[in-house]
Amino acid sequence: MPGRLQHKSALITGAGSGIGLESSILFAQEGANVLLVDVNIANAEKAAALVQERFPNIKAIPYKADVSKEAEVEAAVATAVKEFGRLDVMFNNAGIMHPEDDNALNTEERIWDLTMNINLKGVWFGCKHAIKAMRENPTDAAKGLQTGGSIINTASFVAIMGAATPQLAYTASKGAVLAMTRELAMVHAREGIRLNSLCPGPLKTPLLMDFLNTDEKKQRRLVHLPMGRFGEAVELANAALFRKPATSITSTQLTSDKHHTVASSESSYITGTDFKVDGGLSSAYVTAL
Ligand code: NAD
Repeated sequence: MPGRLQHKSALITGAGSGIGLESSILFAQEGANVLLVDVNIANAEKAAALVQERFPNIKAIPYKADVSKEAEVEAAVATAVKEFGRLDVMFNNAGIMHPEDDNALNTEERIWDLTMNINLKGVWFGCKHAIKAMRENPTDAAKGLQTGGSIINTASFVAIMGAATPQLAYTASKGAVLAMTRELAMVHAREGIRLNSLCPGPLKTPLLMDFLNTDEKKQRRLVHLPMGRFGEAVELANAALFRKPATSITSTQLTSDKHHTVASSESSYITGTDFKVDGGLSSAYVTAL
């Protein structure tokens, strides 16, 4: 059976770990060629080798770029277009949560700037260069290929909820990703370029687990999670692909139970959403113990 992303190409940032790695695997499984972008090239290479071995019919190429540097993002997009002939899906997913990110009084300006440069400016650069590339995508009716494309920006549940365990720069950066994505979705809707945000809940990936480095810190969060567990990266990859509603998608605005992909043309009427995949966290007042 042809995959949902057959003949298409995707660029995924932060592809060496967590959500980016699982999404690279799923997108390749659905037939997409994938450029796996990460500042940690060793991890990107390992991830690309794993994807290529499992799916020899597609191209999986590792690429080193720091998303906070515009020239590097521009070059990454150009590489995807050169290698694959087009860019259909841009997944701006790379992000950091710095251990010294704290409240308004304690967060140093350098931590604020570093976080904003990667989590927000990096997403802007990704959108900017993907939009330029997607405008030039050749159409090929026989292969179901069109001009335009789908851009997915990873935000977070903290973009819509306050936490008394602060990481102020991170939270502010993710709120800005939501606002920016909505606006870009409006600006580019008539060009066939769709933009959506993904709002993960707390996940069992290095980003959060390194931050919650004691059992006490983990329990402080777990008590608030309706499902009583952290999410898995693959559950977010499923949402980015929107393969099928995974168990942790309980508070999404998207109601169809059909198989769709946010990344593909099956989600052709979905743009400007804050797609919450948070195990119900953002709908919770009191949770079961
Ligand atoms: P992760 O740490 O497992 O993976 C993030 C990847 O991004 C790493 O491979 C890292 O090398 C890469 N990266 C970091 N800075 C980069 C840069 N400047 N340029 C290019 N690549 C860079 O984290 P994850 O949990 O998979 O997080 C992915 C996204 O999901 C992030 O944007 C994060 O903020 C968001 N998110 C995560 C959680 C969670 O609980 N883990 C919750 C909400 C949102």
